[in-house]
Amino acid sequence: MFSQPTTEAKTGTIVITDMTHNAVKLALDFCAGKYLDAESAVDLVGVYTFADKYDITAVRQRLEKYFDTALTLENFLAVTMYAYQYSKDALFDKCAEYLARDSDVALLPGFQELDKDLIKAILAKASTFKKAYVAEAHVHEDFTCNGCRKTPIIGHRFTCLICSNLHLCQTCEKNGIHAQHALVRTVNYNTAVPDIHEFIHDWVCDP
Ligand SMILES: [Zn+2]
Ligand SMILES: [Zn+2]
Repeated sequence: MFSQPTTEAKTGTIVITDMTHNAVKLALDFCAGKYLDAESAVDLVGVYTFADKYDITAVRQRLEKYFDTALTLENFLAVTMYAYQYSKDALFDKCAEYLARDSDVALLPGFQELDKDLIKAILAKASTFKKAYVAEAHVHEDFTCNGCRKTPIIGHRFTCLICSNLHLCQTCEKNGIHAQHALVRTVNYNTAVPDIHEFIHDWVCDP
């Protein structure tokens, strides 16, 4: 394996510093034939990066096959990250098309954790497949969720009618965070906001 006079050849040890311990472990397990289906998207892409860097063709080919199988809710994140990171444009388009068809994807917990540029790229691409999709997963730039601190808020944004400048993401709203106050839902740029005072006036019961 070590034909060059490298440090590795002299010591017989490889020190890997540019990927997570888990990714290296997964890659080695993968070489040993362990099935990786249940592993997270980040780790699967990490394994691919490892295999690519050290030119482990068998692992690379096996993962490429995995990434190229039919998209499901379970493998969507791994395949999308791989397609984005390795500029597999045709595959990335397939992911965007899947997202446009099945908007549940945007509600996957891991979706919000994806790279911000990736999210923007895939939403833009998805909107070319289905214009209406934009309304379902808008990126609210410059807004932070007061529940989970995620920024920007992706999907529906909920704003408190009582507290000033309090916003929630749709997951926190669904979980009943800040249930003590009424919230207003904003979907995207086209969501009309009423005159707030008149609006609240309509809700107040007459004595
Ligand atoms: Zn939140
Ligand atoms: Zn409030």
